[in-house]
Amino acid sequence: MILGMDRSNSEATAEVVVVGAGAAGVGVSWVLSEVAGIDTLVLESGEVGETFRKWHEQMRFLTPSFTSNAFGMVDLNAVTPTTSPAFTLGTQHPTGAEYAHYLQSVVDYYEIPVETHVNVESIRPTNGGFRLDTSQGPISTRFVVWAGGEYNQPSTGTMAGAEFGVHVGRVGEWGELTGGDHHVVVGGYESGIDAALELARRGSKVTVLDRGEPWAGRESDPSMVLSPNTHDRLWNQGGGIELVGGVDVLSLETSQGGYVVRGADGQCWTCDGEPILATGFRPLSAVASPHFASDEGGFPEVTERADESTITPGMFVTGPALRHRGVVFCFIYKFRQRFAVVASEIATRLELDTDPLSELAADGFFLDDLSCCDVECAC
Ligand SMILES: Cc1cc2nc3c(=O)[nH]c(=O)nc-3n(C[C@H](O)[C@H](O)[C@H](O)COP(=O)(O)OP(=O)(O)OC[C@H]3O[C@@H](n4cnc5c(N)ncnc54)[C@H](O)[C@@H]3O)c2cc1C
Repeated sequence: MILGMDRSNSEATAEVVVVGAGAAGVGVSWVLSEVAGIDTLVLESGEVGETFRKWHEQMRFLTPSFTSNAFGMVDLNAVTPTTSPAFTLGTQHPTGAEYAHYLQSVVDYYEIPVETHVNVESIRPTNGGFRLDTSQGPISTRFVVWAGGEYNQPSTGTMAGAEFGVHVGRVGEWGELTGGDHHVVVGGYESGIDAALELARRGSKVTVLDRGEPWAGRESDPSMVLSPNTHDRLWNQGGGIELVGGVDVLSLETSQGGYVVRGADGQCWTCDGEPILATGFRPLSAVASPHFASDEGGFPEVTERADESTITPGMFVTGPALRHRGVVFCFIYKFRQRFAVVASEIATRLELDTDPLSELAADGFFLDDLSCCDVECAC
């Protein structure tokens, strides 16, 4: 028997398999199983909230949690309309470990069918569905919802010598970095500034290099500028952080026991601590990427109607990898709005009632009209 479930067939089956039990996987599977009543199975290679469990201890949520659910404004970090991390955890900016605890509570409370320690190794389209090869044996399904996240796929772009730096997604503990009084951080958005703050707190001098100046942006979309929480931390820190915009970093080198970071215009910076690469993540893992075409930004191309692959019918994507009609869904309060869009498409094909899903619109869990998403704040 595979997957520790009571399955009489030699090959396990489910109507929908969700890959990954992070924020996206737990939320979308709640909509699929609890609201739409679809036979759903979640496969997770680690524990529920595995990525959050890997965050270093000082890393905290940027978007504040607040239990405003009863007044029609669901906690920004909740993955279902009637749960709230602030309520469960009693904190406004949870750590990764705390948020993983919240996700596990949601799974337990709603009895969401999650199988942990099952790694999905490959996905193959078959007649009428998919066959997944997993570390616990094969499973067949009609639909796959990819919720594998980005955190396991650090990206360093075309930077030469990237192996001399440490990507933020690979830092378990800042104290583990090899010494150094001066670090260069490449990338000045959230994770770069978070790294700089932590290193400065530990007494290091830090130079942050970025192509633009994310710390100075004035856009209404928080996906483009630093969050107020990070702004507060940055402007209240005790010094030691230098922010340099307009630098396109081309290469890292080692030199005389230290490091040289070279920019495109010939400028270079030296440091004795390992350069930190806050250069983002690739949207899909090697398991999912063959099943999606890429748009010009390298993000998975999805159909106009739902978040389904344009080249592999029946395979959907949810989470921060989603870009739809120019809208960036990189925060939980954004991508949760598409959970019911995916579930509705699947329910329609299974000829199930979609009315319960429509009701999720009032709580911001069913957004199919994206024209509302480009509003600039007046002040
Ligand atoms: C420092 C930091 C602060 C952040 N703050 C915020 C914030 O304040 N608000 C916010 O909304 N977002 C925040 N984010 C972003 C947020 O963490 C991500 O958007 C969120 O984790 C994405 O959820 P996900 O479920 O798509 O991915 P994940 O949480 O990464 O979940 C993916 C899961 O899939 C599993 N998986 C992957 N591949 C396989 C496979 N082949 N087989 C089985 N399982 C697999 C992984 O183990 C993992 O558990 C922050 C991120 C960082 C790094």
